Amino acid sequence: MSQDKIVRAITADGLSIIAARTTVMVETARQTHGTSPVCSAALGRTLTAAAIMGSGLKSEDAKLTIIIKGGGPAGSIVVTANNKAAVKGYITNPMADVPIREADYKLDVGRAVGTDGYITIIKDLGLKEPYVGKAELVSGEIAEDIAYYYVVSEQQPSVISLGVLVDTDETIISAGGIFLQPLPGCKEDTITYIESILEDVAAFNKILVEGKEPEDVIMELLKPLNPQILSVIEPAFRCDCSKERIESVIISMGAAEINSLIEDDEEAEVVCHFCNTKYKLNKEELIKLLAKASV
Ligand SMILES: [Zn+2]
Repeated sequence: MSQDKIVRAITADGLSIIAARTTVMVETARQTHGTSPVCSAALGRTLTAAAIMGSGLKSEDAKLTIIIKGGGPAGSIVVTANNKAAVKGYITNPMADVPIREADYKLDVGRAVGTDGYITIIKDLGLKEPYVGKAELVSGEIAEDIAYYYVVSEQQPSVISLGVLVDTDETIISAGGIFLQPLPGCKEDTITYIESILEDVAAFNKILVEGKEPEDVIMELLKPLNPQILSVIEPAFRCDCSKERIESVIISMGAAEINSLIEDDEEAEVVCHFCNTKYKLNKEELIKLLAKASV
């Protein structure tokens, strides 16, 4: 399997393009959560988008979270990425399944996710308050929903294509995505140019997902504009949970809650939603945490 990478490039007339291959990352997510093919596609597209968007954050400890709640059988999708493209995420009903879309025999991500709800994006830039933006879901297909979010919430036109190919044995063949955005102050011609290559972006994303190198895809897609590669980084599905972090969550529940845990079960098991790691705390440990909790 080729290495995952996120390649960022820019053109002289102010067009930003990011192309990513995220096959290993999405396969790791599938193994972690045991997702059905349609849920692998839904979660994989969201993870790919978060890795791309997170890697664009400037500050070292910045974080980006995407929450998609569409009311479909797959439930909600929650994904978090940092600026080094380490991502983690989950989908609430990972085994949910819907029939293949009859029109083109593709995984019906829109139906699994649903369109009765919102996409919320939280950018924690290490300031006092995180930036929170929200938009209605357009199709539940993820790429369109994020593009619409950019327009209504950040007044930023974007062309976004995301893809996940799932094998008959449910493993991930490949995954990837392309983000194309005019930078502030770019020329009117550039926007017109973007509009003229809308369909090419989807076609090139298909080629990328089928195995072409992201650098080559960028060069060919934007050939007339002579793009310059700015950076190449490797995304990864990785959770940052730990027993200490779980303990601090329990402490924050407050003394009454911890007391009832001690009385009911004498021990507690906490599962990290993002990576399914189980943390067990025995009675002694719970009593120690109780001492640190506020009444
Ligand atoms: Zn975890």
